Amino acid sequence: MNKFSFYNPVKIHFGRGSVEYLRKGLPQYGQNILIVYGGGSIKANGVYDDIMKILSDLNMNVFELAGVEPNPRVETARKGIAICKENNIDIVLAVGGGSVIDCSKLIVAGAKVEEDAWDIVLKKVLPTEALPLATVLTLAATASEMNSGSVITNLETKEKFSWGSPACFPKFSILDPAYTFSVPKDQTINGVVDTMSHIFEQYFNNASNTPITDEMSEGILRTLIEVAPKALKDPTNYDYRETLMLAGTLGLNGFLSLGSRGDWATHNIEHAVSAYYDIAHAGGLAILFPHWMKHNVQVNPARFAKIAVNVFGIDVKDKTDEEMALEGIDALSAFWTSIGAPNRLADYKIDATYFNEIVEHCMVNGPFGNFNKLQAEDVRKILEMSL
Ligand code: NAP
Ligand code: FE
Repeated sequence: MNKFSFYNPVKIHFGRGSVEYLRKGLPQYGQNILIVYGGGSIKANGVYDDIMKILSDLNMNVFELAGVEPNPRVETARKGIAICKENNIDIVLAVGGGSVIDCSKLIVAGAKVEEDAWDIVLKKVLPTEALPLATVLTLAATASEMNSGSVITNLETKEKFSWGSPACFPKFSILDPAYTFSVPKDQTINGVVDTMSHIFEQYFNNASNTPITDEMSEGILRTLIEVAPKALKDPTNYDYRETLMLAGTLGLNGFLSLGSRGDWATHNIEHAVSAYYDIAHAGGLAILFPHWMKHNVQVNPARFAKIAVNVFGIDVKDKTDEEMALEGIDALSAFWTSIGAPNRLADYKIDATYFNEIVEHCMVNGPFGNFNKLQAEDVRKILEMSL
C-alpha cells in the first residue's frame, strides 16, 4: 500500500424513516435554511412533504432552489449562492441525487467568497470554508452524500469539471432506501453502472499489497451483479434498494482507495463527452469503460485477470492472464447490456464530429490517468473503439 492519511467526517443516518433525524440535526446550525432540489421527483414521491412537515415543526425560515439539472450547471449554483448571500442562509439542505448534491456543494462554497463560482470549479479559487451542508439522498449512485467532490457543467464553454474541497463534506446525510423506490428503471441502471465504475476506477491502481481493498471492491461488485437485476424487476423491494444504496456510498466514500490512488481516466473522458452531448454520466461510462479496459490490458494483465476470475467467475484453466482479462471485459459488457445500459456512442447518436474538441477538453491538464497515463492519441483510440 501507499502511505496514507484518511479523513471523512460525514455522519450517515441510514434506514427507513431516518429523515426524522433532521429534527435533531438541523436546528444547531440556525433558522434560515435553503432547500435545493431537482426537477420535481421529490414532489411526486412524497419526500418534499416529509421534509417540509419537519421544517415547519421546527419553525425554520425556508428558502428554495428548484430545478437543478442532471449534470448541474454553474448558472444554477450561482442562483443558489445569491439566495444564500441575500438571505443570510445558515444551512443548505440538498434533496436529490448526485446532481443536486454536487450543485449544493458549489453553493455552500460559493456563498463564502466574492469570486465567481466557475473560478472555484476551475480551481483558481480554493475554498477554505463553506456554509454547512446536509443531504437527503434519493438516488444511489455517486456517493456525493459521503464525499467532498462535485462535478459541474458550464454549457457556455462546453466544459464539465470535477473539483472538491474538504470544506464541502456534508455535515450529515440521510439515506432512506425507501426514498429510492420511485427511481425509474433507467436511473436505477445508471446508478449501478456509476457505482461499479467508481469501484473499477479505484481497483485499477499501481499500489502493491492491497488485499483488503481488493476484497472489499470485488465483494461489492459481485453483490451488485447479483442484486441489480432483482432490483430492476422489483423496484420497491426494500432489501434490494438498501443494498444498492449502501453499495453506492461505499463505492466512492474513500474506503476503497485507502492506500492506493485510483485511475479516474474514464471519468475524465466521460465528463468531456457529457460536456458536448449532455448525456447521462453513467450512460457514457457504460460505453467507455470496457474500451478503456481493453486499451489498457497490457499495462497489467494479471490485475485484469484477477477481477475477471473473482468478480465475473471466468474459468482459469489453460488460459493466459490476457485471455482471462479479455473474457472478463466481455462479461462486464454483457452484464451491463443485460440490465439495459447503452454500449455504443451511436446509442446516443454520437459520431466522431466533436472528437477533436473532446480530446482537447480531456487534455487541458496534460496526460491523465494514474494506472496508465493517457496521451491524446490514446483518448482518440478509446473514443473510436466506442463508436
Ligand atoms: P442525478 O443527475 O442526480 O439524477 C438523475 C435523475 O434521477 C433526475 O432526473 C432526478 O430527478 C431523478 N431522480 C433522483 N431521485 C429520484 C427518485 N427518488 N425518484 C425518481 N426520480 C429520481 O443522478 P446521479 O447519477 O445521482 O448524479 C449524476 C451527476 O453526479 C453527474 O453530473 C455526475 O457527473 C456526478 N457525479 C458526482 C460524483 C461525486 O463524487 N460528487 C461522482 C460521480 C458522478 P429530479 O431532478 O426530479 O430530482
Ligand atoms: Fe461517476
